Amino acid sequence: MSIDDKNFRALYELSCDAIMMLDESTFLHCNEATLQIFNCSSQEVYCSKHPSEISPEYQPCGTSSYDLAQQHIMTALKNGHDRFEWMHKRLTGENFWAEVLLSPAKWEGKEVLQAVVRDISEQKKLQRNLQISKEKAEMAVVAKSEFLAVMSHEIRTPIHGIIGAQELLLNSKLNKDQRENVSLAYNSAKSLLSIVNDVLDFSKIESGKFNIEYVAFNAKQIVEDVRDILLTKANEKSINIECIFSDNASVYVMGDQTRLRQILLNLVSNAIKFSHEGDSVKLVSKFQPCGTEKVNWKIQVIDSGIGIEAEKQEKIFEVFSQADSSTTRKYGGTGLGLAICKALANIMGGDIIVSSQTDQGSVFELSIDIDVCNKDTITQVNKPLVIRRNYQKRILVAEDNPVNQTIIRKQLKRLGLESNIVGTGHDALAFYENSLKDKSLSVDLVLMDIQMPEMNGIDATILLRESGCSLPIIILTADALKERKEECIKAGANTFLVKPFEINELVSTLDEYL
Ligand code: ADP
Repeated sequence: MSIDDKNFRALYELSCDAIMMLDESTFLHCNEATLQIFNCSSQEVYCSKHPSEISPEYQPCGTSSYDLAQQHIMTALKNGHDRFEWMHKRLTGENFWAEVLLSPAKWEGKEVLQAVVRDISEQKKLQRNLQISKEKAEMAVVAKSEFLAVMSHEIRTPIHGIIGAQELLLNSKLNKDQRENVSLAYNSAKSLLSIVNDVLDFSKIESGKFNIEYVAFNAKQIVEDVRDILLTKANEKSINIECIFSDNASVYVMGDQTRLRQILLNLVSNAIKFSHEGDSVKLVSKFQPCGTEKVNWKIQVIDSGIGIEAEKQEKIFEVFSQADSSTTRKYGGTGLGLAICKALANIMGGDIIVSSQTDQGSVFELSIDIDVCNKDTITQVNKPLVIRRNYQKRILVAEDNPVNQTIIRKQLKRLGLESNIVGTGHDALAFYENSLKDKSLSVDLVLMDIQMPEMNGIDATILLRESGCSLPIIILTADALKERKEECIKAGANTFLVKPFEINELVSTLDEYL
């Protein structure tokens, strides 16, 4: 079907987009939409304007409109057309965003340019609003994660006090009833701590502030540790935990053993929780070479418990998600565990998958490619811990929280350690200076809390070292972040303990320095 001049003209005039013909310095013709978009009274007025009058002097990118227009004209001449976004100016003065299609054309026998201009100011406004909403939402996520991190951090300090005081009580003379009550409180405080730790982990993962360690360890040992830690819990339900290794040789690897242990503890705890009395749980560990310095490590946690319906199997890895809401009522839990495990596995370059059948049981498989190393790389050897100690020494404790002061004093006393307690970094320094003059004040080690008023533990440690103090300094921090640990060592501390710590952790650290 052919289309005559009249119809072409109608198309031109009826277009909602501004269409205009121009050469370097003048507009030759324009359609009705041009007049509307640029707020112009007539074609004659429009064609009397210089093209530079319908743009601001500079584009939002900072380049002059004239220079940028020349570039677009060159591109249009070279490629046959050029489409771009442009800040235009109405003749009444206000700027607006437009999409421009520039193409070379013939007009009354002359080589000219045709510009089609579409007003996209509404679209841009929407885009901008969307962008603002997105930024606001992202800021809200960061604020939420930070709030969670700060809150859980703050909550850990009093829990430390509760657990410490209960440990002291449990180690004292109690009748059966009292012991039972304290044990109940102790176990509740421990589970509260594990929830707070989960929330802290989760907020750190969400805000991208999660660090993974890279240390050498015996891979099989981790699997056996997990079994040993959960043995009591399994015995309560007469469940047998069996470790099965594909071969007997030890495998030494490099990675984050704490986080791997945390994942396995979670998977095996779930396996015990969702198994029936008398069932058995298997931990099957297999290594397969992949590349020259890596192995693929697969650990399956197999149970024959209640199982998970097929359509719920993906959902259980989501945050705060449980296969069945009745699960919470019957078994407890927050639904954070598996989400954290999967996120941790992913951060370490691995993954966790599940296969399960209702009433038959479940298999959770952790798979990770991990660097291998040789035994000599292992520096940290886990010493068997005996809590009974009688050091007969004196310690300077810098700690501002009165509850923690009492607990640490009593904990140290049980280990045969006298303590002098100060509440700020300043006082720690002053105490040390005095101890140089008065031998009765001399101490053998400093336990330094990191967060104290006036002067924090890091600054106090730096100043102690500067004043020639060579005593072992152990920093107590509630923050397990890698940077925080590095900061302690850089300040001159010998080591650090992450609060809340148990008495056996304190003892194994003191053993090294006393
Ligand atoms: P929770 O703290 O609630 O146990 P998890 O994230 O560890 O949270 O687990 C989420 C849900 O996945 C559980 O509530 C349960 O419904 C299901 N689940 C996890 N492990 C098993 C298992 N071994 N057998 C059956 N169901 C399981």
